Parts: sequence; structure tokens; C-alpha cells
Amino acid sequence: MFEIVERYGQKALVTRKAHRAGQDICAIPVESVHSRPDRLTVQIRSDLHARIGPLLEAMNHACVPNCEIDVVTMSLRALRDLREGEEMTFFYPSTEWEMASPFHCHCGSAHCLGVIQGARWLEEKDWRGRSAPHIAYLRREHAKKGILESLYQMDDGAVA
Ligand SMILES: [Zn+2]
Repeated sequence: MFEIVERYGQKALVTRKAHRAGQDICAIPVESVHSRPDRLTVQIRSDLHARIGPLLEAMNHACVPNCEIDVVTMSLRALRDLREGEEMTFFYPSTEWEMASPFHCHCGSAHCLGVIQGARWLEEKDWRGRSAPHIAYLRREHAKKGILESLYQMDDGAVA
């Protein structure tokens, strides 16, 4: 169905057959779940990170990705039509709130965001496609916290 190849000194996940946009490519097996993220985990809930093994290890980030990881159904899905032999990528901040290993992206897209470190540091305008439900939840909580903090600051100012 797909294979892991070495490209420019790093691994890449390449599809062995063509897929249609919106099509589920495969189920994603969860090997174990953890409370903290690391290089080999994908965030599946606001407080849970799953190891999905060699698939994720080989799947690179792209700022304009051609696949997404659905953490509700745990499946890999094509975002657009894929040709046989094409590298499959996904947008890391679509599942990751705060990444354990931020990095400089060299995806070559005109829309490249540069540093990729998680959804927490993304502005609305930099958003690419859909995010996992827990990311939408964390964004709301983060925004609420920001509003509360600014209210407390105003309160302090009024007292002083
Ligand atoms: Zn990029």
C-alpha cells in the first residue's frame, strides 16, 4: 500500500497506489498511549499522545499537506488526489498543540510557515485545513485563558 523510502537523507512515506481526495488510505494502529509528546507520538486527545510506529516516523510535515490524520477514526486520509509514488505528508499542527521537537520547515511551499512547533503558536491566518477536535478545544481554552488574564490585569490596574 505504501513504502518508506530514504530521500535527501531523511525518511519519507510514499504511496504505492493512487488515491482519490477524501479517501481513507489506511487505518492507523496505536501501539501505546502517553501523557507527554515525543518525536514518535501523534496527539489524539488534549492530554493523550499515541505512538503509531514507523508510519509516523517516516511521514513528513508539509505546510500544504496532501494527507491528514483523523484522530477520531484513527485513519490516514487523502486531502487531494494522490499519484502512485507520491510522498504523503500531513500538517503537524493539525494534531499537535505543543511539539516536543520544533523544527525549521523546508517544504518549499510559497505558504511555508518556517518554524513548526505546534498549533498553540499559529495565528488564524496561518491555519491550513482542518484541525483535530482536541486542537479546536485547546484553542478555545487558550483564548479563554488569555481573556481571563487580561481581565485580571485590568482589575489590578483599577486597584492600584
Ligand atoms: Zn513548510
